[in-house]
Amino acid sequence: PVELLCYCRPGFEPDLAAELSEKAASLGRAGETDFTRDAGFVRFLLPEGEVANGLHRDLPLGGLVFARQSLVALPPLTLSRDDRLTSIVDQVEASGWSFESLWQETPDTNDGKALAGLAKALERPLTSLLKKRKALRRKAGGRRLHLLWSAGDRVQLGMSFPGNRSELPGGIRRLRFPKSAPSRSTLKLEEAWHEFVPRGEWDERLGEGMQAADLGAAPGGWTWQLVQRGMHVYAIDNGPMDKALMATGQVEHLHADGFTWEPPYRLDWLVCDIVDKPSRVEAMVERWLVRRWCREAVFNLKLPMKQRWPEVDACLRRLSEALEAARVEADIACRHLYHDREEVTVHVRLKG
Ligand code: SAM
Repeated sequence: PVELLCYCRPGFEPDLAAELSEKAASLGRAGETDFTRDAGFVRFLLPEGEVANGLHRDLPLGGLVFARQSLVALPPLTLSRDDRLTSIVDQVEASGWSFESLWQETPDTNDGKALAGLAKALERPLTSLLKKRKALRRKAGGRRLHLLWSAGDRVQLGMSFPGNRSELPGGIRRLRFPKSAPSRSTLKLEEAWHEFVPRGEWDERLGEGMQAADLGAAPGGWTWQLVQRGMHVYAIDNGPMDKALMATGQVEHLHADGFTWEPPYRLDWLVCDIVDKPSRVEAMVERWLVRRWCREAVFNLKLPMKQRWPEVDACLRRLSEALEAARVEADIACRHLYHDREEVTVHVRLKG
């Protein structure tokens, strides 16, 4: 395998490519990116003769911002429309790959959606051929073969490994919009929790009776999530909050500036969805964390600019350097979530 294949939101290929190039370079690894704008995926090609597995391990998916999925991949195939299966099975056999499951995927584009029927039709014959050749078998270390279809005659094969992949098709977490939530934004915070807080720790870290602040809270989609978990919330916004949400009695709505408001005592959570310059939001959250005004934080960095990766990278660097200088130990993660558009979501958890 000579390349990495990463999925992303269509339109964010240049950002993912910039991120991969820079991170690979900082590991001393050469390579070239290849992508088509709006295609929904990026290839990272290593120099002739190198294998991609080491780089794939050294760039874990959870540490990448713009990748929804990350695979070790074989070169893309152009297929004959009368016999698509032979080339695929031959390539698998030549690679020596074995795996426990097989996922057919398409990019998150309209063209991609149109290919779902084709993939479905091929599923059974392909599965049975791969089983016959002993490539698809039990006890293959949880490895999964992915087929990414980008056209009716164009497919790329990739492999994923347990512990370093998204377990969701396309790397997409689809969530149902809760009917009583006041805004669509609510899904961003819910997705962030799924992404950053292991399910088994929700009761302890997102528990009944905890105290939170929501900066830029109106109309209350994020506050709604906190209230659902049984928390008490300081909702900071000059705009109006949803009436039903206020009627729960768990929300104190304060007409104040989120950038200068200070909590009356130490809180469990800070969340912030204010639309402003990323550097300004970062500086505000930094102050909260250095003063230990909360244990955990989720905030968005809005990215209307062209070059999103350098902006995100600069903010994350500033935050981690500031925390280090203040001797505040923390885990910082940042991901471009499915429900994020021109923004990314950052999670910070203080240690100790
Ligand atoms: N997360 C909210 C939800 O789920 O319903 C949506 C938040 S909306 C994207 C951004 C909000 O930030 C707006 O309601 C706006 O009034 C508020 N806002 C903008 N600047 C602010 C500031 N300096 N302090 C507090 N709120 C601010």
